Amino acid sequence: MKDTYNRRVNYMRISITDLCNLRCIYCMPEEGICKKSHDDVLSFEEITEIVKVAADLGIDKIRVTGGEPLVKNGIVEFITSISRIDGIKDIAMTTNGILLDRYIEDLKEAGLKRVNISIDSLNPERYKAITRGGDINQVLKGIRKTIELGMTPVKLNVVVVGGYNEDEVENFAKLTMDKDIEVRFIELMPLGEAAEWAKESFVSNESIKKRIGNLIELPHKISSPAKYYQLPNALGKIGFINPISDHFCSECNRIRLTSDGKLKPCLHSNQEIDILKAVRTNPEVLREVLESAILAKPQKHYLNTQGHEYVKRNMSQIGG
Ligand code: SAM
Ligand code: SF4
Repeated sequence: MKDTYNRRVNYMRISITDLCNLRCIYCMPEEGICKKSHDDVLSFEEITEIVKVAADLGIDKIRVTGGEPLVKNGIVEFITSISRIDGIKDIAMTTNGILLDRYIEDLKEAGLKRVNISIDSLNPERYKAITRGGDINQVLKGIRKTIELGMTPVKLNVVVVGGYNEDEVENFAKLTMDKDIEVRFIELMPLGEAAEWAKESFVSNESIKKRIGNLIELPHKISSPAKYYQLPNALGKIGFINPISDHFCSECNRIRLTSDGKLKPCLHSNQEIDILKAVRTNPEVLREVLESAILAKPQKHYLNTQGHEYVKRNMSQIGG
């Protein structure tokens, strides 16, 4: 279905939980977040019902995210059930990779096509500091297994945070030389309670591009938020996702579903449309609710404009 600005919306990002086994400094408070009661979160069965209606409206691509999607029991069965829905052509996942080694084979079998793995440092101590306790070796094992299974290109998401990991961008870029992987640098976004801090720690992708140097620009793929480049003779690619310095709103093709049953027409707006009540009490109106969320997509986000109110939820609660 098209929105009011003639953009075809065919992509749904689903946050299946806001819980996580890590506590990244820009995403989650150190003490974690309170676990919501069952009544306040969508079950896998309810999400599946929503996806069926969304598929009927033209959604053909799903990304499962969180919080950390792999901490949720029943994830493999859930992927199986959405992969059987008519019209769903592509299912991907964004994960921190800690549990990937354990699940990736079953997930592939269930119908998962690709994974994006978040890794902000290649140094074990630093990785531990940024994630407040994560073990990088577990993530590396998961990445190796995903590549072995041929689920390529594996995409690595790197958020560069001033004072933490700017000096690692060249090492991340080098990873693309002999492997078919995509390293994607994502600009730190001011979200949730860390919004002010994130503004101070912001490092623009333009400065990262300069730091790496010698990049060859590749043709831009419409509806990909990343602009891709390659080092000379490299097997893999380097992507830059610039939600702050150069937003991609005119090509935006997505809506988001949060684990507590809210549809978000735009990541950077506090507008949310409740779908939890509809799926529980009145499934006949699901189509209408989904249509209204697509039609509510703003022309663009207003992050850089004066008086803009930051989104109150952390990324872990929205689904990054
Ligand atoms: N736990 C999974 C993971 O880390 O990949 C999935 C959810 S996480 C919220 C998805 C992505 O959002 C991660 O790549 C993370 O680095 C990114 N993210 C979280 N907060 C962010 C922020 N304030 N700005 C930019 N990216 C952010
Ligand atoms: Fe967890 Fe992902 Fe947020 Fe890190 S970025 S705290 S792994 S949800």
